[in-house]
Amino acid sequence: MRTRAAVLVADDRPRPYAESRPVEVHELDLAPAGPGELLIRVDAAGLCHSDLSVVDGNRPRPTPMALGHEAAGTIVELGPGGSDLAVGTQVVLVFVPRCGVCRECARGRPALCQPAAAANAAGELLRGGRRWGELDGQPVNHHLGVSAFAEHVVVDRGSVVPIPSDVEPATGALFGCALLTGAGAVLNTARVRPGESVAVFGLGGVGLAAVMAAVVAGAEPIVAVDPVPEKRDLARSLGARHVLGVEAASEHIRELTGGGVDHAIEAVGSTAVLRAAWAATARGGTTVAVGLPHPSQRLEVPAVQLVGEARTLVGSYLGGSIPDIDLPRLLALWRIGRLPVERLHSTSRPLGEINGALDQLADGVGVRQVLLPQS
Ligand SMILES: [Zn+2]
Ligand SMILES: [Zn+2]
Repeated sequence: MRTRAAVLVADDRPRPYAESRPVEVHELDLAPAGPGELLIRVDAAGLCHSDLSVVDGNRPRPTPMALGHEAAGTIVELGPGGSDLAVGTQVVLVFVPRCGVCRECARGRPALCQPAAAANAAGELLRGGRRWGELDGQPVNHHLGVSAFAEHVVVDRGSVVPIPSDVEPATGALFGCALLTGAGAVLNTARVRPGESVAVFGLGGVGLAAVMAAVVAGAEPIVAVDPVPEKRDLARSLGARHVLGVEAASEHIRELTGGGVDHAIEAVGSTAVLRAAWAATARGGTTVAVGLPHPSQRLEVPAVQLVGEARTLVGSYLGGSIPDIDLPRLLALWRIGRLPVERLHSTSRPLGEINGALDQLADGVGVRQVLLPQS
């Protein structure tokens, strides 16, 4: 079939992107779903900071690439041999497909699925190869097995989790990255217990999801850090007791908590911010790295602190989630009002406005912009 998709053609264009237009919407060939794959109509796709990191070259990926990794859609066709899922089922797309049989999947850590990591790095689907046709003679790559900024996509069965049909697509989409990643960092990786203190650095979709999950976990106090006042206000209304700008944030957190927080979550992807999170962590506490810094960045910490203060520094990819288990749990919390995901949704825009939307994201305007490929 032919379908419209937003394709990143170069990752070195200057800002503003509304003028340099690194992302172009093209009508591309899309091969039919193969065995174990699904054709999905994308109903809503969230624009995440990790998309910006691909566009600005901080997260180098092969181009041209059909961009986007956070979405909700509807199954319109099954690959040969069928599927356990029926046509018409609403699904959330997850940016790490799971094969189910590799060593990491077998150990219950599908976020680290080995064939998925290889396929995602190569811009291919889990079972190998690309389903996108060519653009100007070059093969178009898949983005993390999802390529959400498109009218239709072919994805692996392991890239989707079915969700009830009454969930609004723009809400469901955010569960695929912001919620799995941010809430997972708090609930799965840090395993925050009631009464423990939490600081969240960076209040985008992922960071605010971490704030919400810290509230669910019964954390006290919750401290939220971001340079943008509107985001701090949102964090406060979601349950953060203290909100801080970035200036001397670690020192303020140590004062507020009498020596640092039990859990400091870095949701920016900056080594400088990770250092600040480390400095804000208490003796015996855990610093959780969630954002993805440029591969060239290095982190130095005093080694003696690690031992002498029994500190933990841990990375959290996809929130350490098992999507088939965690997504229904998070949806259940959302249903009873304890994860007000809609509050993260700032605006909805058509696919053609993606470059302007990337500028807004880079400027820190709003939290989650949702692209509607069908409009
Ligand atoms: Zn994301
Ligand atoms: Zn696997």
